[in-house]
Amino acid sequence: MAFVEQKWETMPQEKLQEIQLEKFKKQAGLVYGNPFIKKRFDEAGIHPEEITDWEDIKKVPFIFKDDLRENYPTGLISGNWDDVYRIHMTSGTTGVPTPMVYSKNDLNTWATCMARNFVAGGLRKDDIVQQSHGLGLFTGGLGFHYGLELVGAKVIPTGAGGTERQLRLMQEWGTTVFTGTPSYAAYMAEFALDNGIDPVKDLKLRLGFHGGEPCSDELRNRINNRLGYSAHGGGMRRCYGLTEMGGPIAMDCEYESGIHIWADHYLVEVLDPETHENVKEGQPGELVLSNLSFEVMPLLRYRTGDNVVVSFDTCECGRTHPRITRFVGRLDDMILVSGTNVFPSQVELILLKHSELSENWQLVVGENKGLHTLKVEIEPVAGARVEKAFVTALEKELHKSLEKKCFVDIKAVGSLPRFEGKAVRVIDQRT
Ligand SMILES: [Zn+2]
Repeated sequence: MAFVEQKWETMPQEKLQEIQLEKFKKQAGLVYGNPFIKKRFDEAGIHPEEITDWEDIKKVPFIFKDDLRENYPTGLISGNWDDVYRIHMTSGTTGVPTPMVYSKNDLNTWATCMARNFVAGGLRKDDIVQQSHGLGLFTGGLGFHYGLELVGAKVIPTGAGGTERQLRLMQEWGTTVFTGTPSYAAYMAEFALDNGIDPVKDLKLRLGFHGGEPCSDELRNRINNRLGYSAHGGGMRRCYGLTEMGGPIAMDCEYESGIHIWADHYLVEVLDPETHENVKEGQPGELVLSNLSFEVMPLLRYRTGDNVVVSFDTCECGRTHPRITRFVGRLDDMILVSGTNVFPSQVELILLKHSELSENWQLVVGENKGLHTLKVEIEPVAGARVEKAFVTALEKELHKSLEKKCFVDIKAVGSLPRFEGKAVRVIDQRT
C-alpha cells in the first residue's frame, strides 16, 4: 500500500483526536476575530479560550449555507486578505454564490488531501490522467488538477465537455485514468460504444475518480464494467467534497469501503439534525464538518446538509481516518412531494437494478388538481424490450420504496438529455 504522508494517514486515533482538539481551539481563536462569527459565539455564550474538551466543542455555534450567502462575498473571511491567493465559488440554485477564499498554504493543504486520496485510490506516477471536471470557478477542476500533479501523474487537463475529442485523446495517449462526474463517465461509455469503440478492448482506462454528484452502487458497477475499469484491474473511486470545506476533499481508497475524510484537517461529526446529539455509530445523521487547517476562511461546525453513515474504524488499507460508508442523500436534493420526502438517489438505486434500463432518466414532479404527481422518464438500454408487465412491476416497486405513487414512462433510446457535468435529474413543473 502506497501513501503520501504515511505517518499522518495511519496515525493512531487517540493521537489524531489530541491534534484535532488543539487545532480546533486554534481555529476557534482565529474565526472569533470575524465580527459575524464573534457575534454568534457571544450569543451562544462560548469564548474560544473556554474550549478545553469535546463537550465544549458542542457549544460552538453552527455555520449554515445561508450564512455564506448572506455574507457574500468577503464577510466570512477570518484571516488576512493579503494572504489570499485564489477565489472559487459555486453558482448555487438561488443565484447568490457560495464562495471559498484560499491562501497559498490553504491551496497546499487542499492539494495534499487530494494527493493522499488519489494514491489511496490506486493512482501512480506513470498514470496518464484525463481530468474532465470543469476548470474554472467550480472547485472540482483545479482541486483535482493540483492533487494529481502533486502525485506526479501525467495530467491532460481537458476540462468538461468535447466528448468526441476526449475519446480520441484516450485512444491516442493511452489514457489510464478518467475523472469527471459519474453521469459523464456513464455518457462517455455510451458515446464510445455508439462510435464503434469498446472501452474494454480499445481503451486502457483502469481508474475513475468521479464526484460532484451522488452515485448509487448500481451506477458505479455499470461504469466499472462499461468503461473497462474492472476489466483493467482497477475501479471507480467516488469523491466527496463541498466548496464550503475547500472543494473535493475525500475519496474511496482501493478497498472501496468508504470515502476517507482526513481527520488531521477536518473534524467529522455526525449529528441528529433535530437534537444536535451525535448519532450512534452506524446510524445515518447529518455530516457536520470543521476545517482545522485553512487560514483564510475556515468554517467550524458547518452543517453540510448531507445525510450520511460514517465509520470511525480503521480501514483495511491501514488508514485510521473516518469514512463515509453510506451516502443517504443531500438534504438540498430532497424533494417534498405532497408531504413525502423523496431523494432522487433513492429513485436511481431502484431503476438501475434492472439491466433493461439505462442510466438516462429523469424524475418529473407535476401537479394535478392540487395534488403533486411523480413520473419517472427513462430510456431502456439499446436493444432491450420493455413489456407492460415490467412497467407495472417497476411502478409498484417505486411506490413501495418511495411511499408515493410514481408513474413510469419508457422513452425512446437517445431522447433524454445527456450530461457532460452534473446531471439534472429532477424536472419540477409545479407552479
Ligand atoms: Zn481505506
